[in-house]
Amino acid sequence: MPQTLFKVDLTKPMTEQDVPGHNRWHPDIPAVVSVNPGDTFRIECKDWTDGQIGNNDDPSDVRDVDLTVVHVLSGPIWVNGAQPGDILVVDLLDIGPLPGDEWGFTGIFDRNNGGGFLTDHFPNAAKAIWDIEGIYTSSRHIPGVRFAGIPHPGLIGCAPSHELLAKWNAREKALVEKGGPPWKPKIPPLAALPNPQNAILGTLPKSEWERVAAEAARTVPPREHGGNCDIKNLSKGSRIYFPVYVEGAKLSMGDIHFSQGDGEISFCGAIEMAGYIDLHVDVIKGGVEKYGLTNPIFKPGPVEPRYSEYLVFEGISVDEFTGEQYYLDAHVAYRRACLNAIEYLKKFGYTGEQAYLLLSCAPIEGRISGIVDIPNACCTLAIPTAIFDRNILPV
Ligand code: ZN
Repeated sequence: MPQTLFKVDLTKPMTEQDVPGHNRWHPDIPAVVSVNPGDTFRIECKDWTDGQIGNNDDPSDVRDVDLTVVHVLSGPIWVNGAQPGDILVVDLLDIGPLPGDEWGFTGIFDRNNGGGFLTDHFPNAAKAIWDIEGIYTSSRHIPGVRFAGIPHPGLIGCAPSHELLAKWNAREKALVEKGGPPWKPKIPPLAALPNPQNAILGTLPKSEWERVAAEAARTVPPREHGGNCDIKNLSKGSRIYFPVYVEGAKLSMGDIHFSQGDGEISFCGAIEMAGYIDLHVDVIKGGVEKYGLTNPIFKPGPVEPRYSEYLVFEGISVDEFTGEQYYLDAHVAYRRACLNAIEYLKKFGYTGEQAYLLLSCAPIEGRISGIVDIPNACCTLAIPTAIFDRNILPV
């Protein structure tokens, strides 16, 4: 077993860990450990909410979750020799739950606290608890399904430079001020701007805390450094190539998912868990310029659940409430594909909430199938039929 360089105690919040992690992005958050290119090591992570959700049948913890706390991350890890303009090569050698804590949760956030992709259809908080048995998972809250996990960090990335952070803050603030496109629903909000409330900034000296907390970026969106990409295929064996923006790279990670469907639609939509990640790192000098990187690139690993049969739902960019025609809008089209799948699964005895949770966390394949056929985008959502204990095809 590789040496554990960042440990977590699940009985304590991130602020009370022996070495605290962080929940904001800022170049001045000090690294807590250093490694050399070529090193292999283990990092432990808390779940993204810092332990706010319990293994029980009551969704009030999801309803009342404090979203200023998210995402709690492990790191930053300093990689000796890494300089801005280099590529940090990160191999995800293994990912799993912590021993004795083999469970996860999927939630639908309340419309008044977080919302989600289908919040106008499912405004109330709900959750499903998943028991993890080796590679498999099943839930007492969604009977009749069992599937193999595709564990991955929902969130992993290097620290931004001061310049990049300023760019993020400026453009996200401009979006909020502009108010977004006319069709934008009120919930969720347009962006999560810097918020000092409940900021956790690792081992930063208290004298600098106020300044950094006021300008540190929230961890909600994916950005040029990777971050909260929620890509289910970043699973065991993946090799990720990260652009380095600061000396030492300052790699951080968290938000481990045991499984997730493409889109992570319910927002708290993966099977969220605490866990460990075994990593190997290396550096490609000057790689950003050499390979023209703006965002990370990655090579998926060879270990994924293998499904050969799917039932696929189509969706087009027409609003389900108003019937309004949207122009090549993949967001609307994917929403319609999801709603079509949920309506179908309801015919098999699931509630809408159960179907929504399942499509969020099971190994669902989502595609932009057509994006040029004016005026409709076509998105598809493919459900592997073998996750059900019965035939779900029309007969
Ligand atoms: Zn997550």
